[in-house]
Amino acid sequence: MSELNVLSTDVRYLEGVGPRRAEALARVGVTTVRDLLHYFPRRYLDRSTIVPLRRLDERMGPITVVGTVRLAGVVEGKGRKRFELILEDESGGRLKCVWFNRLSWVAKAFKAGDRVAFHGKVQRYGYTFSMTHPDFDRLDGESVALATGRIIALYPGSAVLERVGLTSRTFRRILYAFFKAHGLKLPEILPAWMRTRYELMDGRVALRAVHFPRSQSELAQARERLKFEELFFIQLMLARTKQIRQTVAGPIFGPPGERYYRFLNEVLPFRLTQAQQRALEEIVQDTRSGRQMNRLLQGDVGSGKTVVAMAAMLHVVDNGYQCAFMVPTEILAEQHYANLKRYLEPLGVEVRLLLGGQRKALREEILADLAEGRAHVAVGTHAVIQEAVQFHRLGLAIVDEQHRFGVVQRAELFAKGENPHMLLMTATPIPRSLAMTLYGDLDVSIIDERPAGRKPVITWIRSEKRRGEVYAFLREQLRQGRQAYVVYPLVEESEKMDLQDAENGYRRLQELFRPYRVDLLHGRMLPYEKEEAMARFKRGETDILVATTVVEVGVDVPNATVMIIEHAERFGLSQLHQLRGRVGRGAAQSYCILMVDHRRTAEAEARLQVMAETDDGFKISEVDLKLRGAGDFFGTRQSGLPDLKIADITQDQPILIKAREAAFELVRRDPELEAPEHAMLRAYYDRFYAKQSLGFARVG
Ligand code: ADP
Ligand code: MG
Repeated sequence: MSELNVLSTDVRYLEGVGPRRAEALARVGVTTVRDLLHYFPRRYLDRSTIVPLRRLDERMGPITVVGTVRLAGVVEGKGRKRFELILEDESGGRLKCVWFNRLSWVAKAFKAGDRVAFHGKVQRYGYTFSMTHPDFDRLDGESVALATGRIIALYPGSAVLERVGLTSRTFRRILYAFFKAHGLKLPEILPAWMRTRYELMDGRVALRAVHFPRSQSELAQARERLKFEELFFIQLMLARTKQIRQTVAGPIFGPPGERYYRFLNEVLPFRLTQAQQRALEEIVQDTRSGRQMNRLLQGDVGSGKTVVAMAAMLHVVDNGYQCAFMVPTEILAEQHYANLKRYLEPLGVEVRLLLGGQRKALREEILADLAEGRAHVAVGTHAVIQEAVQFHRLGLAIVDEQHRFGVVQRAELFAKGENPHMLLMTATPIPRSLAMTLYGDLDVSIIDERPAGRKPVITWIRSEKRRGEVYAFLREQLRQGRQAYVVYPLVEESEKMDLQDAENGYRRLQELFRPYRVDLLHGRMLPYEKEEAMARFKRGETDILVATTVVEVGVDVPNATVMIIEHAERFGLSQLHQLRGRVGRGAAQSYCILMVDHRRTAEAEARLQVMAETDDGFKISEVDLKLRGAGDFFGTRQSGLPDLKIADITQDQPILIKAREAAFELVRRDPELEAPEHAMLRAYYDRFYAKQSLGFARVG
């Protein structure tokens, strides 16, 4: 489509760009006109939001000021060497701006007479107001435009861009020339029915307005439309992936059989919760539909996912197929193996454990059992997906703690059989907005109910001063026959010191709590040593288990009622939540004690407070997402989270919901996007998203 050619044009051919600037732009990801139009302003200067220097007040939050630089220079004076300049404006006020870092760079950046906007928080020293390390934007030559009340776009800057003169002002000039010459040639991509239904601004107007807004309300509408569009195309990729998936045939199973019912009715010492039952029914239904299952099972730690998985495995075995169960750590693999054997072997199911360092003879025997169908279930770390592992008839692949695995590993597991059904499990509850984006192509079952009789874990935050009290409490719990975990952080960079910390803690506790038995578990130990330490704790032969974070996921010891986390301020929120989930697994009241340093950041404080307030994993994950931002939440690359240019998954949930609805509605109405009214959308999608969607689509 010729209209799209405008968008695909190389920026270097635009007026005001040229090869040198094009090269710099490429470094920030801008190579085409479309990229440039989507290089959205990072901020706007609205005359009404600029504070006259006369009105400065240290109680204001971060503000914007505009003025002329008067004096600028490096000051040696008392204390640290610094760069200072004085800014003046028409109101007659003054502001001092100060830099302590990168002095030679700032010293070159300003000279007397420059017109500059500064952004930052004002401090007051006597009669002098100052800003330290403020952000700034150069406004040379544009004071007139400012004075006439326009809203001015400011673009994300960088040294690379500045070197070739690409300041905010240059961006505005280039974009202005572009809109003047080609603005009318831009295509409207979204169909009329969608624009009407969601009251979206015209796409061409929105692009112009986001760069050159005429008013705040026009700007708001433009941003809303562009956010919608951005989220819509992601959802469209997901909707199409899901649609394609649904054409993939999976093994067709009959109704659940004997082993399945014997497990639920005779083997399990409890009844499934309603949420577990619902999830299990959804899984069974999927396996009978003829289509391959792609289901995510979400549930907080201890909500009973593993039990559901076991029932699903029995259903598969009843139907003459095998299962693979992949978990992230060896400890977990061992635990699951022990559990599966205990519950499934009495039902005649053969379970095998696959680990990295197994003896060759043993491994070969296991491989033969799987290849020839003598074994029904293989559980293990990623050893399960190694090439040598072949199944006779793989019907179900389960991935526990799936966020720990990359897309590639899941894809390999997926390639093991003839489209085995896939069940992904996660104990990291994901905020709705993120789930819609990360797992928007999967079906989701949620276990949002805990087994009856479980009491919420009581959480305390305690500082060093109160360690005595904490130990007295611990002693009392031990006296009642309970067990405890004491967990130390393990940060890779300072692994040695951290390990020492844990070892010292271990020795001290041994001494203080004699004759109670204290044991140590850390990542440097050999697999069999870890296994034995864990097994001793499980059997109740150890009272206190001192551990680094290897104890984190899935480990199940119902008699453990105390979780003490040392240096809790150094843990991430989801990690704290996971650790706390190690206790509260039995009928007795459990406790989580967060030992904290008095020096801690505001963010650490926020994490600790949330932990004290709630044990609802979904609430905790919402807060975690807000604190960390979407990019960091899972690590962008591994998760396949798309790079968003204008929308923000945490802030724009209402728009996301509409965009998702629109995308799925579109695919329902016109699955191949063949209708004439969707021609432009189809062409745009094919050109700018189809390739990307291959990398983005989650396999399994
Ligand atoms: P998850 O895998 O979600 O962390 P598990 O399946 O390991 O949870 O279950 C945690 C503990 O709760 C286990 O000891 C399990 O036997 C027990 N459990 C699971 N479901 C129920 C239930 N419906 N009623 C009582 N106990 C349950
Ligand atoms: Mg589990």
